[in-house]
This record gives sequence, structure tokens and C-alpha cells, in this order.
Amino acid sequence: MERPRPSPLRVLVDMDGVLADFEGGLLRGFRLRFPQEPYVALAERRGFSAREQYGALRPDLADKVASVYEAPGFFLDLEPIPGALQAVQEMRCMKDTEVFICTSPLQKYRYCISEKYQWVDKYLGPEFVERIIMTRDKTVVAADLLIDDKDTIKGQEENPSWEHILFTCCHNQHLNLSPSKRRLHSWSDNWRAILDSKRNARPEQD
Ligand SMILES: [Mg+2]
Repeated sequence: MERPRPSPLRVLVDMDGVLADFEGGLLRGFRLRFPQEPYVALAERRGFSAREQYGALRPDLADKVASVYEAPGFFLDLEPIPGALQAVQEMRCMKDTEVFICTSPLQKYRYCISEKYQWVDKYLGPEFVERIIMTRDKTVVAADLLIDDKDTIKGQEENPSWEHILFTCCHNQHLNLSPSKRRLHSWSDNWRAILDSKRNARPEQD
């Protein structure tokens, strides 16, 4: 009798800050649109929310920075993060591996949702459009790994099935993580080793 095949390793890859350069696009857009205003250089970014940090700099800057990412074309025009496209294409072709793009749309979703779909189609192709999971709550999605630049991911499920791998981004690079938490410093970092370690750590299924 044939032995049952192991179920594939399922990897969720976040979009903004992991595949698409949200922070770089935001700073560029803000400086173009508000050239006279103070801004937060990428090296000075702290905390996931740019809106909050700009608001702390001066209260009216919160709405100004949000107006940049809420504008039509913002998400579509984001540059890919170096190495990201090659990495997820390689991941997709790996044996016993499933990769999905798991991304949260803005609450003001008017342009964001369709532009995220267009961005994936443009840079990764229709086979990845089939693999978009658009959700405001990633904790309810079942997977082995979630590669995401947001430092704290909360939702309805207190114990998500995935291990969160923190993808390093300007806003989280200074954080000290608990020893149990792993980082992927960039797409030149050893993401294959993280997948392998997770695969090997899973219980035998036969
Ligand atoms: Mg992100």
C-alpha cells in the first residue's frame, strides 16, 4: 500500500512591506505631494502605523500621510521589495509547498483592493492572483508559516495555526523580539532554511 503523502507546507506571504515596498512608496508620495512639510525618514520610522508616527510629529500630518496611501494609484505603483518576486516564484515551485499571498486591505478599500489584485497580476501573474487571500483577520487563516512585517498580529483566533516570521522592515528593525520569535531579515536571508525547519518540525503523518 502506498504511504499517505505528507500534506504540503503552507506559507502565507504578506504583501505590503514584504512583497511591495509600501514604506518607500509612502515616503516618496508624501514628499511629492507635501514638499513643504516635515517627514519621517525611513531610518526614523518606528511602529507599524505611519499615520500614528506622522500624527505624533504634528497632528495634521496624520491625515496628510493617510491621504497618500488612500489615493488612487498608490498601491499599483509600489515597487517590488528586492528579491521578493523571485523568492515567491521559487517557493511556488518547491515540492510539497503551497504559497498564498495573505494581505489586509485598508478600511478605506476603494482603490486598494483592486490595485492589490492588479499588482499581483502585473508582477507575479495570474497563477498568483488565484492565491490571494484578502482578509482583515489573518489569525483565522490556517497555515504553517506567515511571513509578515507587522510585529503583532491579532484577531479572533487567539492561537493561530501559523508561526509568524517577522519580515524586517524600517518600522520594526529596532524591536527586540522574544527568543522564540524568528525574523527574516530580507529576501536574501535564508528563507529556504525557515521553510525546511518548519517542514522537519511537523509531526510525521504516516
Ligand atoms: Mg505588511
